[in-house]
Amino acid sequence: MKKVLAVQVPAPCPLACEFCRTPNHNEGDMARVRQSVVEQIGSHDEIYITSNGETGLSSIFPDLVSIAQQSGKSISVLCATEKSVVAGLCRVEISLNKYTEPLALRAIEKAKCLSIPIVLSVVDEGNGVNKGTLLSRYGVDGILVRAQQHEGRSNTSAGESSFLQRVGSSLGLFPAIAYRELTLLGEGFRATCIDHQGDIVPVLGTPA
Ligand code: SF4
Repeated sequence: MKKVLAVQVPAPCPLACEFCRTPNHNEGDMARVRQSVVEQIGSHDEIYITSNGETGLSSIFPDLVSIAQQSGKSISVLCATEKSVVAGLCRVEISLNKYTEPLALRAIEKAKCLSIPIVLSVVDEGNGVNKGTLLSRYGVDGILVRAQQHEGRSNTSAGESSFLQRVGSSLGLFPAIAYRELTLLGEGFRATCIDHQGDIVPVLGTPA
């Protein structure tokens, strides 16, 4: 079974989304995160780099990309800005909401220029999400809908998680089952999760 190594790196963030689940940006232990990745990456097929801020602004992001490339592993990224979009990714998941939209649109454009498959990551606040409409409107390869979590700045849970992948697209190990709201979406491969302290945890984010 294919395995993805999901890692939440400490990172600052220039944004302040209303329902941010990780508002304590840049907290964590960079050295332990890096060490855990070095120890784990050999037994995984893909590294999925996320963060408690904006992934590409983490001081260890370039280093983790380099470690993965030297190990011959695929790299996917969850982010909101073009800073996190670097050549060679097998997939970039771009968080799109009313707060991130200006920067997210630039990230989408950069990913298209680099021919990186794009997934839009959106939160269902309880009103449902029309995945097909989003797929067409933004010309992307996949949509990942996340049920809103009672976590961080969000004081409520709502909505349902689901995903849609464009027929014929190649998205690597998608969806990465690394957050509790995504655990029912698929069991095609396993995920090992490393949090921002460098600890291996069942899922990223606050446990239920
Ligand atoms: S872009 Fe992500 S990390 Fe930054 S405030 Fe918004 S939800 Fe939080």
